[in-house]
Amino acid sequence: MRIFETIHPIMGVGNSYLILRESECVLIDTGYSRGAKKIIDAVKSFASGKPLATIIVTHAHLDHIRGLETLSILFGAEVIVHKDEGDFIMKLEKFPRAQGFLPNIVTKLTELMSPPPYPIDRVVTNGEVIHGLKIIHVPGHTPGSIALLDSVTGVLFSGDAITTNKKGSKILPPHRLFCIDIEEARKSALQLINDTQPSAILPGHGKPILDPEKHMLAYKTKFGG
Ligand SMILES: [Zn+2]
Ligand SMILES: [Zn+2]
Repeated sequence: MRIFETIHPIMGVGNSYLILRESECVLIDTGYSRGAKKIIDAVKSFASGKPLATIIVTHAHLDHIRGLETLSILFGAEVIVHKDEGDFIMKLEKFPRAQGFLPNIVTKLTELMSPPPYPIDRVVTNGEVIHGLKIIHVPGHTPGSIALLDSVTGVLFSGDAITTNKKGSKILPPHRLFCIDIEEARKSALQLINDTQPSAILPGHGKPILDPEKHMLAYKTKFGG
């Protein structure tokens, strides 16, 4: 699927996105597959020989980090994550207790199934810009969840802060089961919708939304109060 000339989505259990820059490419999230074959194939076919030098991870859930070790070793890519999320990937810290009985079980299971500790090269904070991608801290789903706004295309890579349905026709509210702090996640989702005017939304789950304005308005009308 080709959305913009410079962005190649790799759809899966967790979506990943390959972004082409002048002299290198950047990967957002590494998917659920440990072997990351789809992503490796995408780099080979889409990157036109440019190196995959940077991997930005939106958060530490296993469906976004399972391919991290394979990809960063294979391509020698620098691994970047928000400062409040790195310790979960390096397993220096466990996720905080989630709000509610079931979300807490899901969090614990996620942790049990997640890959072994992996080192982070660099941590970032809200507002920093990496290769034209502005980091937006959207805590709640996990403490250090981020979204990224692309200054080149205007695309919002929303991670799991905003997800969409299978048709790409609706923005979904954060799901209680998968959020460590549902109230904060709802606040972050709404803030993202209020504060950005993206040309498209490319989510961590669900199909891309290519006409975001009306869907963002519908979300605000339904969940804004
Ligand atoms: Zn996810
Ligand atoms: Zn997640």
